[in-house]
Amino acid sequence: MSAVLIDGKAIAAQIRSDLAKQVREIKAGGLVPGLAVVMVGDDPASSVYVNMKKRVCEELGIYSEQHLLPASTTQDELLGLVRQLNSDPSIHGILVQLPLPGHIDEQAVIAEISPRKDVDGFHAVSLGSLVAGQPGFVPCTPAGVMRLIKSTGVEVQGKECVVVGRSIIVGKPTALLLLQESGTVTVCHSKTVDLAAKCRQADILVVAVGRPGLIKGDMIKPGAVVIDVGINRVEGRLVGDVEFETAREVAGYITPVPGGVGPMTIAMLMHNTVQAALMQRQD
Ligand code: NAD
Repeated sequence: MSAVLIDGKAIAAQIRSDLAKQVREIKAGGLVPGLAVVMVGDDPASSVYVNMKKRVCEELGIYSEQHLLPASTTQDELLGLVRQLNSDPSIHGILVQLPLPGHIDEQAVIAEISPRKDVDGFHAVSLGSLVAGQPGFVPCTPAGVMRLIKSTGVEVQGKECVVVGRSIIVGKPTALLLLQESGTVTVCHSKTVDLAAKCRQADILVVAVGRPGLIKGDMIKPGAVVIDVGINRVEGRLVGDVEFETAREVAGYITPVPGGVGPMTIAMLMHNTVQAALMQRQD
């Protein structure tokens, strides 16, 4: 038996198309959602992401600004730009592309973003809302993971959910979202003893580590939903953290890499930007 492929590309395209329609309606009412993307330095991977965000904003009719600053930018200069964007009424979402150069304190920069414009969902207020189960911006990749799980029709409630990876960007928020949906959640990480046994219990397995092929078919419960967040470049090819060929023989549903979680992240960023614009209209 071979697992059903979860087509993140198609699901993300549908979300973008729904958002484009919503943006047209909002614009007809006189509001243009706006996103500012700030990048410091010229990290090639970050440049690719910034350009993708710009392109998707254009596709959806969202106004976007790119602030591309030199690597020599000081923390004070960056904080000054964030403050300026906080008070700019044409901007509803602010995203500071990470990682930042070593001389800048990332947490200080994230803390400076107005929580009302925190479309990345990394501000302590957004993360606190997530813990408290209150409405707020949900980090984009975990939000995308949840949409992919939902697309399978498999209910999270009561299921054994295992999240491998505990980063603040993916693992932790994903675990909280699964808990919010009444899953029984285990979070595994680099110090976990007997990862294979933990994974084998999972009805829903989310892997976000950054190690190619860490999770093999014999670590997966037959029929499980497997969401592979990992993006690794191996011999010029993109692969996930799950060994796809062995895993697909055991899993019930599985995301490919590329074409699984990746396209969802940017779609959820656009979702957050539209939400931010609607919220700020009410203020
Ligand atoms: P990270 O490096 O911040 O965190 C990795 C986590 O994996 C840590 O919590 C660590 O404890 C855990 N870990 C490391 N080795 C382990 C092991 N042997 N067994 C179990 N756990 C182990 O990474 P991140 O930012 O969460 O990203 C993880 C992966 O997801 C990367 O490949 C990244 O490129 C990818 N990613 C993809 C998207 C997307 O849009 N698809 C978005 C963000 C991250």
